[in-house]
Amino acid sequence: PPPPRPPPPHPPALLPRSTVQGKMASHIVGYPRMGPKRELKFALESFWDGKSSAEDLEKVATDLRSSIWKQMSEAGIKYIPSNTFSYYDQVLDTTAMLGAVPERYSWTGGEIGLSTYFSMARGNATVPAMEMTKWFDTNYHFIVPELGPRTKFSYASHKAVSEYKEAKALGIDTVPVLIGPVSYLLLSKPAKGVEKSFSLLSLLGSILPIYKEVVAELKAAGASWIQFDEPTLVKDLDAHELAAFSSAYAELETLTSLSGVTAYGFDLIRGAKTLDLIRSSFPSGKYLFAGVVDGRNIWADDLAASLSTLQSLEVVAGKDKLVVSTSCSLMHTAVDLVNETKLDDEIKSWLAFAAQKVVEVNALAKALAGQKDEAYFAANAAALASRKSSPRVTNEEVQKAAAALKGSDHRRATNVSARLDAQQKKLNLPILPTTTIGSFPQTVELRRVRREYKAKKISEEEYVSAIKEEISKVVKIQEELDIDVLVHGEPERNDMVEYFGEQLSGFAFTANGWVQSYGSRCVKPPIIYGDVSRPNPMTVFWSKTAQSMTSRPMKGMLTGPVTILNWSFVRNDQPRFETCYQIALAIKKEVEDLEAAGIQVIQIDEAALREGLPLRKSEHAFYLDWAVHSFRITNCGVQDTTQIHTHMCYSNFNDIIHSIIDMDADVITIENSRSDEKLLSVFREGVKYGAGIGPGVYDIHSPRIPTTEEIADRINKMLAVLDTNILWVNPDCGLKTRKYTEVKPALTNMVSATKLIRTQL
Ligand code: GLN
Ligand code: ZN
Repeated sequence: PPPPRPPPPHPPALLPRSTVQGKMASHIVGYPRMGPKRELKFALESFWDGKSSAEDLEKVATDLRSSIWKQMSEAGIKYIPSNTFSYYDQVLDTTAMLGAVPERYSWTGGEIGLSTYFSMARGNATVPAMEMTKWFDTNYHFIVPELGPRTKFSYASHKAVSEYKEAKALGIDTVPVLIGPVSYLLLSKPAKGVEKSFSLLSLLGSILPIYKEVVAELKAAGASWIQFDEPTLVKDLDAHELAAFSSAYAELETLTSLSGVTAYGFDLIRGAKTLDLIRSSFPSGKYLFAGVVDGRNIWADDLAASLSTLQSLEVVAGKDKLVVSTSCSLMHTAVDLVNETKLDDEIKSWLAFAAQKVVEVNALAKALAGQKDEAYFAANAAALASRKSSPRVTNEEVQKAAAALKGSDHRRATNVSARLDAQQKKLNLPILPTTTIGSFPQTVELRRVRREYKAKKISEEEYVSAIKEEISKVVKIQEELDIDVLVHGEPERNDMVEYFGEQLSGFAFTANGWVQSYGSRCVKPPIIYGDVSRPNPMTVFWSKTAQSMTSRPMKGMLTGPVTILNWSFVRNDQPRFETCYQIALAIKKEVEDLEAAGIQVIQIDEAALREGLPLRKSEHAFYLDWAVHSFRITNCGVQDTTQIHTHMCYSNFNDIIHSIIDMDADVITIENSRSDEKLLSVFREGVKYGAGIGPGVYDIHSPRIPTTEEIADRINKMLAVLDTNILWVNPDCGLKTRKYTEVKPALTNMVSATKLIRTQL
């Protein structure tokens, strides 16, 4: 899965001792570490596979770091970050810095080496990896520290200092970046066996002495600024958590004899109120690092608008105390537009990736200092004007249709229990119907067929017949397994968003627009640049073909509007909900065409609905309202007898269960098995659910094959809280990443468990 929207304000920075001469007041919060062509990814994977040495890996890393530093330096950036590189994750780097290695990795002390580091990140032959979770509302995943009262801390990774020195040796004085102590603790979880009530913040006194050592060493090496990232400050914090910030920095000040926090940096893109708050109460005498260039998307900045924001902030902070910055680390955007050969010049002129954003930041700083590059600003204004007026962006018809949706509601006419009755008359399914989520294993052969078709190496005929053959194989397997509602296996799809984006208008695709998702994994989000419409049916041919191969119901399989939105780079010239409504209208057409083609069950995946939830609780209701509305738009027009399914990934639905109910799908399949059945507790506590529901009965992320007994046990647990006639039996998610040797026995056991329980009812 993919992408972005700006989060965390970046850090307060400490202690300016000297100022770099000759450079304008410009700063970059952080930079992508993968490299313009994912060099780090390939180096890491080759090292993990034993195909290259640690020295080979280190060489790639050193080269990447130096080219990034040099690039920023040459662009004229004054405050260049260091320690933003990572072999895996910056939170894990902090865990290493603090020596907070969980016991199971049997680390014996000293400096943490690559082997312990990667064991924590990825697990090893005997010990599983540490947990990974999403970084705020981005698609970046970090390794969650596991801390408890017995965790011993020691200064065990000198990476921050060695990176600082490495840059210095290149003649570049950098600002070392550290994750601040309070955010580090608030991003942690209590270690296994530690009481849930354990206060992670109680460890503050134990980690500050290590920060003190790091700061002392950085100072000794010559660092005059240190950046502490404290992104948790953007969340809804209680008084106790807020107090931890004040005391941590007061203590750090005493411990390190720093002159206190000298500068504050803010994301001025994402937080709607930040700018007003700064204007009304910025402390005097402090530097203001103004994050005006969006680090979370790929659009060229509106330089004139940013410049006027900056000029208004000069009044607040003072002319000599204002620094132009990015809204957050640029690691959440693509690396360099230079490598885009597929995009046409017009679209390219509207974009700025990380490398281009560095130049924008510097241009703004120069303009503030009275050295405005008129030609650069004029070119930017022209690009913006072309984007505004381009007929490729605007589609009057779509605009009108989307505008007509606002203010009105969209719901199916009949209530869900009456619909389920009407559907059952037609579908005649057994009790506890079995199904899967959509994809079947994507074999090497299948990927080759798709790749060769795309490269025009095989003909359309050859491609269609290969895919048909695959579908018929998948259909046969499901019939043999005796699954009730079938899927076609999605062999024609590379990715659940890209497949639709490529067929919708208003989308563009990059060749190298990768963004790190976790470890060596990257995603390449599509770019939504214009009004979205669906010129032609996208899935009807395949679904019809698949249905013709079986007498059992075949699910039509679509990606929902909210998921398409959340996993793309979204245009910033209209509100997100407007773009979402447009996608909803396009998917609605597809739903209705599938229905007309005789497909009786249609699944509209909203895998990413939960992850689009804003960070602030006060913004939840608004998001959920338009997101759920968008979903309903897609299927409000179908007949009662057409069964609409949806699917959602990720645990933690409990806080949005009422919105899920409000989606009004006939059946929802939902990831469940990794969340300690937390989902079921909602129903145990009395939430009434009347539609069909299939909480996943086994985890598809693991190669482990679940036994019949354990699945039966799961189903029984579900039956204890859900009515027999609404429960469905299915895996957690799609089977794309699994092998047939895992999928067949797992589904065999799933069906036997279901049959066993049916006889007991
Ligand atoms: N239908 C998709 C599949 O099975 C759903 C994937 C997902 O939820 N991430 O692959
Ligand atoms: Zn899923």
